[in-house]
Amino acid sequence: MTGLTVLGATGSIGQSTLSLVDEHPDRFRIRALTAHSRPDELAELALRHRPDLTVIGDDAHHARLKERLAGSGLATAAGLDGLLAAAELPAERVVAGIVGIAGLAPTLAAVRRGAVVALANKECLVAAGDLFRAAVARHGAKLLPLDSEHNALFQAMVGSDGADVEKLTITASGGPFRTAPLAEMRAASPETALRHPNWSMGAKISIDSATMINKGLELIEAHQLFGLPDDRLDVLVHPQSVVHGMVHYRDGSVIAQLGCSDMRVPIAYCLGHPARLPSSVPRLDLARLATLTFQAPDHERFPALPLARACLRAGGAAPTILNAADEVAVAAFLDRRIGFLDIVAVIEEVLAGSDAGAPADLDAVYAIDAEARRAALQAVAQRSHRPVSELAS
Ligand code: NAD
Ligand code: MG
Repeated sequence: MTGLTVLGATGSIGQSTLSLVDEHPDRFRIRALTAHSRPDELAELALRHRPDLTVIGDDAHHARLKERLAGSGLATAAGLDGLLAAAELPAERVVAGIVGIAGLAPTLAAVRRGAVVALANKECLVAAGDLFRAAVARHGAKLLPLDSEHNALFQAMVGSDGADVEKLTITASGGPFRTAPLAEMRAASPETALRHPNWSMGAKISIDSATMINKGLELIEAHQLFGLPDDRLDVLVHPQSVVHGMVHYRDGSVIAQLGCSDMRVPIAYCLGHPARLPSSVPRLDLARLATLTFQAPDHERFPALPLARACLRAGGAAPTILNAADEVAVAAFLDRRIGFLDIVAVIEEVLAGSDAGAPADLDAVYAIDAEARRAALQAVAQRSHRPVSELAS
């Protein structure tokens, strides 16, 4: 039995993980489950998986969680201390499935005890990349990339020490606005932006896919995971979402990983690694698909991509600011306070207005993050006095 903790158990990644655990009841023992809110859903998962500890991040929901688990004999906790306690329980594997910078502290707590961490939370590598990697090395932890593109690259690099790799390519579906004219993007509502053509994901990453900043964050993630510079990391738009990543070797060979667009494929690889876990995910039917297409991304309609590349090249505080401003701008868009195209405009404005230097430690990461959020909220406020009808014109 492998001890498993799922941080962000009620989310899209958390639920996919637990559905694989359901397929293998004799292989995994759940040590801890966490969520931010939704105590009823968390309680249901806890009753099914009987973890040693069930944690709700938002204290306000602790009473409800305790009420739902009364008489079950299951232990609960709440708040940041609770999240850290969950990560610190001695589970061999931890799925880091919290969204946003909120995932950094709990994921680091698992890293610091040398756990094997299946990393979905790309924000750890974007907002605190160098410091996070240093902590992984210092504490003998192991990262298994769970993000589908990075998981694909990781799989396609088995047997390589990296020295023979020329270039890495990650693919992007192009999101709901892949072929949309700018006018349509300008008028987009949260509902249309959330409608991802291929993947079913949480709200934040769905909007990030629509702006394609997700792919920009993933370039930074790939840089941190595989150590290649910006000019050896490529993005291709691939609307079928079948090829997730490709490793180009110095002998001209290209090794790609393929699979249907279901996160249970990369999650299963992380749960079973180095063995492969049997899973019931739909199998790829290439004859039925018949055609796979690839094209270069359009930087005019998706300026988030060159913006994120510039942050990757600049290093220092830029990726931390990019991540924080994006979190604020996406939340404001979902709240209908700004238009779709304003998301990237807000981030650009915050980046341009900052002179922060590279964070020397985690306190500095949190300070840069907080300052970027403050500036982003201000940029949102300046835009949101405009009526939405005007944003949409
Ligand atoms: P989601 O919104 O569906 O779920 C997020 C989870 O985190 C929930 O359990 C929620 O309760 C918890 N959470 C949210 N805010 C929190 C806070 N402040 N403190 C503690 N817990 C909090 O998100 P998701 O789509 O599952 O994405 C999770 C992470 O995985 C993100 O970093 C995302 O970029 C990454 N990821 C997701 C997918 C996907 O297919 N969904 C694919 C690749 C990478
Ligand atoms: Mg991805």
